[in-house]
Amino acid sequence: MAALRDQFPGLAGGWHYLDTAATAQKPQAVIDATVRAMGADYATVHRGVYARSAEMTLAYEAVRAKVAGLIGGAGDELVFTRGATEAINLVARSFPACGEKPRRVLLSQLEHHSNIVPWQLAGWQIDVCPLTADGRIDLDAAEAMLTPDFDMVAVAHVSNVLGSLLDVPRAAALAHKVGASLLLDGCQAAARLPVDMTALGCDFYAFSAHKLYGPTGIGALWGKPGLLAAMPPWQGGGAMIDKVSFAGTTFALPPGRFEAGTPAIIEAIGFGAAIEFVEGIGIEAIQAHEARLVGQLRAALQMRNDITLFGPEDAAGIVSFAMDGVHPHDLGTILDEQAPDGTRVAIRAGHHCAQPLMEHLGVPATARASFGIYSDESDIAALIAGIERTRRIFG
Ligand code: PMP
Repeated sequence: MAALRDQFPGLAGGWHYLDTAATAQKPQAVIDATVRAMGADYATVHRGVYARSAEMTLAYEAVRAKVAGLIGGAGDELVFTRGATEAINLVARSFPACGEKPRRVLLSQLEHHSNIVPWQLAGWQIDVCPLTADGRIDLDAAEAMLTPDFDMVAVAHVSNVLGSLLDVPRAAALAHKVGASLLLDGCQAAARLPVDMTALGCDFYAFSAHKLYGPTGIGALWGKPGLLAAMPPWQGGGAMIDKVSFAGTTFALPPGRFEAGTPAIIEAIGFGAAIEFVEGIGIEAIQAHEARLVGQLRAALQMRNDITLFGPEDAAGIVSFAMDGVHPHDLGTILDEQAPDGTRVAIRAGHHCAQPLMEHLGVPATARASFGIYSDESDIAALIAGIERTRRIFG
């Protein structure tokens, strides 16, 4: 574990980083790959007739296949986007309407704003599925709500606040029974558990590289080939066309149709290096490691009578909680101050871009600790020591 942590320059100096659900620290291998792509290997893709560009194109397209492979898909089913947010916006904009009625989507009470606002902006009629008492999407309620009027069910695979995991095969069966498609916001899941498009049975899967130990500025939308092919482009420009004239333009097949302009070449190469890094450790090993840490942290917090825990026991990599009489921002600020042993702890405090969920929980904010490949027991010990320090300050 020490050797693994040493590969992350961002973790140097006694910093206990418990905010991986917001964004993961980067291993040196990803930083090096990115620097090479920006330096000695740099050239554009899909355009140059010279060898360097052809090599970069091969490397870029190899990453597409690698990203798709991570989730059990094929390269031609995977669109590079700016991140999960852009991936969901793409579907919300381009998913074809059926007749005159507004398109209709079932979301859930625990969604991240990036799986709420795009549907609002694109004019969808939105229904909201409630949660179970332990913070899961209530699929019994979803079953009762869904009718053939729905075009889409769009929900988080893993909640970024509660860590709750969706029963995807059941969600897919419920959506498909009424003729709707299933979009999963896989931002938190893709970095924490094995994901397989053929086994899950969803229709769209959106995620971001930066939560998967890769760079910011790139992510992916996986879509069932038939569905992507039926969707019109949402942004126009170079690279997404077949033939352009002033009389009219025809478009490339997916995924190119959805990738207007010069893509995030450097970031894509870093994304590929991140996936190699994750696969080198093994996503099952990461899942087991984070499950152990979640169990330990929940047990330590449950021993205190001034802490309320949110979310289910088997949360994936994420623990949200509240401390009696202490606003999460105050807790986060005190944790960030240097402790007597020289350590600092970074947690997230706030609404986590999930204001409707905060309303459901009846709190303005929560404190959230989230784990990654590099997290260990010392992070939990530093957090608990920081909570005790905070208690002494607040009395
Ligand atoms: N969905 C979930 C569940 C997330 O955790 C996040 C990032 N916090 C997003 C969507 C948005 O991802 P990005 O900002 O990388 O587009």
